[in-house]
Amino acid sequence: MAPTVSEPETTIIDGKAFAASLTEAIAAEVAGLSAAGKRAPGLAVVLVGEDPASQVYVRNKGRQTIAAGMRSFEHRLPADTAETDLIALVRRLNADPAVDGILVQLPLPAHINTNAVIDAIDPAKDVDGFHVVNAGRLAAGLDALVPCTPLGCLLMLKHVLGDLSGLRAVVVGRSNIVGKPMAQLLLQENCTVTIAHSHTRDLAEECRQADILIAAVGRPGLIKGDWIKPGATVIDVGINRAAGPDGTSRLVGDVDYDAALGVAGHITPVPGGVGPMTIACLLRNTLTAAKARPDSGF
Ligand code: NDP
Repeated sequence: MAPTVSEPETTIIDGKAFAASLTEAIAAEVAGLSAAGKRAPGLAVVLVGEDPASQVYVRNKGRQTIAAGMRSFEHRLPADTAETDLIALVRRLNADPAVDGILVQLPLPAHINTNAVIDAIDPAKDVDGFHVVNAGRLAAGLDALVPCTPLGCLLMLKHVLGDLSGLRAVVVGRSNIVGKPMAQLLLQENCTVTIAHSHTRDLAEECRQADILIAAVGRPGLIKGDWIKPGATVIDVGINRAAGPDGTSRLVGDVDYDAALGVAGHITPVPGGVGPMTIACLLRNTLTAAKARPDSGF
């Protein structure tokens, strides 16, 4: 998993290789449980409707869950499913002893109240970490199931930098699924944390202070090369479709990647950076949830 060096100073963080080694370690632990006669941890994924991107995510999650030696339970419901029926399914999964983790794929169709559905998930099985109990526990510095994307970012940061204590971190974006939990995790690591958002007065100047810069916005190339402190570690969470030079569409992040090369000390590419870590952390959370169950016998 040796990082590849692109320009004189910038090391590219290989999220794909890092995710593969994390998944391998999880699979080895699951194999150890099975060798000891324990049951396999189980992850239930619920998909409502036919959103093409969500279908790809759900398929990948199921495939990787099985590859790690866990049980995968997929529930595909039609787009016109009533909110009450979806919540009834979540409650059945809460009560199912074979299910350790429950993930309801977002976004849900507009007629369903997403918060009501997340609220129905047993916080002990909330492997996405979106339930208010887990968000509150994270904010209070207690053990919690942490949202997978910021957890993946933190694991990569610790791998690259070791101790994060005292570093200045700037998180651009304040969503409940990425920005806010990312800031909480960095605070727990004793970083000095700034959260920037669409009302931040001088975003460029805030970014220039960052030893660790996390971009979780959803605006292609928003972060310019001269917004980056030389040597900073840049984690690009953004996934955006943009037209390439030949007119075809390609995936890009929130950071102007080419301009960042040679300025940043480390950077995650898009694709191949944060993305692969998200599913690996979902498997990690499922194993964590399984081991934490008082009746698990693990
Ligand atoms: P949201 O749309 O929920 O949040 C975006 C945040 O960016 C908001 O807090 C918003 O501020 C802020 N913002 C918007 N425009 C600006 C601006 N011009 N300057 C500063 N801040 C701005 O997005 P998510 O957090 O869900 O996702 C962010 C990105 O990460 C997306 O590209 C998404 O696709 C990607 N993503 C990638 C994942 C992965 O696995 N790699 C997983 C999840 C997301 P305000 O609050 O003021 O509106």
